[in-house]
Amino acid sequence: MDRTQLIERLRRETFDVLVIGGGATGCGVALDAASRGLRTALVEKQDFSEGTSSRSTKLIHGGVRYLEQAVKRLDRGQFNLVRDALHERALLLRLAPHLSRPLQLVTPLKRWWEVPYYWVGLMLYDLLSGRASIGRSAYLTRRRTLKRYPALRAEGLVGSVAYFDGQFDDSRMNVELALTAIEQGAAALNHMEATGLLKEDGRLSGATLRDGLSGESLTAKARIIINAAGPFCDLVRRMDDPTCEPMLTTSSGVHIILDAAYAPPDLGMLIPKTEDGRVLFTLPWMGHTLAGTTDTPAPLAEHVPVLDEEIEYILRHVRLYLDRPVTRTDVKAAWSGLRPLVSNPKAGGTAKLSRDHVIADSPAGLITITGGKWTTYRKMAQDAVNHAIARGGLTAHNACRTTQIPLVGAPGYEPEAAPLLAAQFGLAEDTARHLNLAYGGRARRVAELASAGLAGRLAEGHPHIEAEVIWAVREEMACTAIDVLARRTRLAFIETRAAQAALPRTIELMAKELKWNKARRAREQRQARALLEGSL
Ligand SMILES: Cc1cc2nc3c(=O)[nH]c(=O)nc-3n(C[C@H](O)[C@H](O)[C@H](O)COP(=O)(O)OP(=O)(O)OC[C@H]3O[C@@H](n4cnc5c(N)ncnc54)[C@H](O)[C@@H]3O)c2cc1C
Repeated sequence: MDRTQLIERLRRETFDVLVIGGGATGCGVALDAASRGLRTALVEKQDFSEGTSSRSTKLIHGGVRYLEQAVKRLDRGQFNLVRDALHERALLLRLAPHLSRPLQLVTPLKRWWEVPYYWVGLMLYDLLSGRASIGRSAYLTRRRTLKRYPALRAEGLVGSVAYFDGQFDDSRMNVELALTAIEQGAAALNHMEATGLLKEDGRLSGATLRDGLSGESLTAKARIIINAAGPFCDLVRRMDDPTCEPMLTTSSGVHIILDAAYAPPDLGMLIPKTEDGRVLFTLPWMGHTLAGTTDTPAPLAEHVPVLDEEIEYILRHVRLYLDRPVTRTDVKAAWSGLRPLVSNPKAGGTAKLSRDHVIADSPAGLITITGGKWTTYRKMAQDAVNHAIARGGLTAHNACRTTQIPLVGAPGYEPEAAPLLAAQFGLAEDTARHLNLAYGGRARRVAELASAGLAGRLAEGHPHIEAEVIWAVREEMACTAIDVLARRTRLAFIETRAAQAALPRTIELMAKELKWNKARRAREQRQARALLEGSL
């Protein structure tokens, strides 16, 4: 991926659509627009998925919680939402089979009357998924529950209900969405901030941009601008109209990582009611246990601090349900993601709150798309591009076809290829398995790089290897050490200490590949250390 060439395209071409924001929503929009034959650009001020999209619970789900609300309120719209999300769930599992898989989750029950309540609810969940079903729900007796999830607290347990949802690697899927959009013809760039919007005769005509790596400014021309800046949407709206009212408020959702002993490798847990009436998950993820999340009002910030009380809140619930001691020192990593909460949809002009997402139009033609969830990014993108075509009088070559476009790692992916990779390239078993899942059909090319003297582990006890650093730079647009450690390999999300240990070697490899001078190396070191020691 040649950054210079992509920047040159930004300067030279007039685009049909310029997308601001490279999270799931923005990259989904870029892929949809480019695959309809629209001239498409995307700019992301940090890295693809640097925002909320790398900080999710990593579930591809219809939302059992939303279903409960639908039943309680007899809300048909809410039922449709769950049904549509279940349909998207099945699609994503098909479009990115290497990065996603079905996962069974249990809901432990402590009162007998809860059994029929949750059982009926999950039957409905299965029913709504129809042909998009990925596995049937089941009632598990107390004994069977404890057999499947030995760390569960037995005291007071009457049994559990088990159901299926999808699980995925959010930031790798986000990066692959960006790469797939580029394959379809989009000019998508990370580390490129939209700093202002340009107008001609009162209509938006482009944006001023700042290259976060070189510090250079440039302008890009576009007929339609789509604001997919997530929690930052209001800041982009203000570039268009400095007097506009905010649409969003934000809240922080924290997750923590514990070691593998807190969840079986093939089973998650949904805690049905926390002390503040929400749900909380413990999930097996990347050989560890992910637990979360919280919901704490928090101001807009690039890196949201994780508060001690948020970590304590999660640990308290884990202790309540698991018969295994857990303290602050067991937490290997913690991070926060900002929820963009649409509190004032009408502020966006002619807002369309059609699903759980909003598409809003400004008089100058800024189209803002926000809300929704990771699972529904594709449908959100489809709606936004339909809207842009109508609003901008754009001519697309074809209708939306994103249900048919697999992500870049999907072609050639073989679920059982890991032992072959290990044998052929002399890789350790865990590394081969990790490469197969992370890179899918492209894993062999990463393994080939490894066999050229880059098979060393980046950190003791983790499967990630040196070849991935070079691959991330050459093929996945990683520009900084944290791009590699946080969003290409996920090491920084799994264990802070391991990421710190991997940092010097990562910088050394990147410096050689990208011809960094001493000053640039020192800057990388400083910035990455600060993020790993503070808030990721
Ligand atoms: C704690 C938590 C858990 C969640 N768990 C799940 C889950 O398990 N499953 C699920 O389906 N959904 C989940 N969600 C929802 C899901 O994560 C979000 O809906 C989704 O990630 C939002 O993506 P986005 O692209 O709209 O926003 P973001 O990912 O935040 O992307 C916006 C991007 O815009 C960029 N940007 C901002 N301003 C500019 C500018 N001026 N120029 C260029 N770029 C700019 C930002 O850097 C950012 O990368 C969760 C959300 C939270 C908060």
